[in-house]
Amino acid sequence: MNKRCPTCGALYNGRRWIPKPDNQTVREYAKEGCRNATCPGCLRLERRQIEGIVTLRGSFFDRHKDEVWNLVNRVAKNKEKRNVSSRILDVAQDNGDTVIQTTDEHLAERMGKELQKAFKGNLVMKWQEGGALVRVFWERD
Ligand SMILES: [Zn+2]
Repeated sequence: MNKRCPTCGALYNGRRWIPKPDNQTVREYAKEGCRNATCPGCLRLERRQIEGIVTLRGSFFDRHKDEVWNLVNRVAKNKEKRNVSSRILDVAQDNGDTVIQTTDEHLAERMGKELQKAFKGNLVMKWQEGGALVRVFWERD
């Protein structure tokens, strides 16, 4: 039986979740019949499962907020298209830093790498020993 996530609309066909399905796929699944089931990505958001913490620091970010956010959101969207579990959980301010929590360590890593590729700056990544948590620090003045 197919499943559909009532929160984000992802579809499941018995093998894998399809994040952000196009209209055609949604219609096909609806025709075959779907039951509601929360997808792994929305479950991680509900449980507040944090696998990555990305800290943005420095005056470059203050001067180029739009460009930086565009890149962060683009990375998140691309990642979610391939992996339904990969989400931004929360964004907060902490002593002038901007802190992004993600439900997927690979998303946090990718954000850090793409930020450095696009805007240079200093990138540090620290993996928690024995656990699926990465802390990513990106800084540019
Ligand atoms: Zn979902």
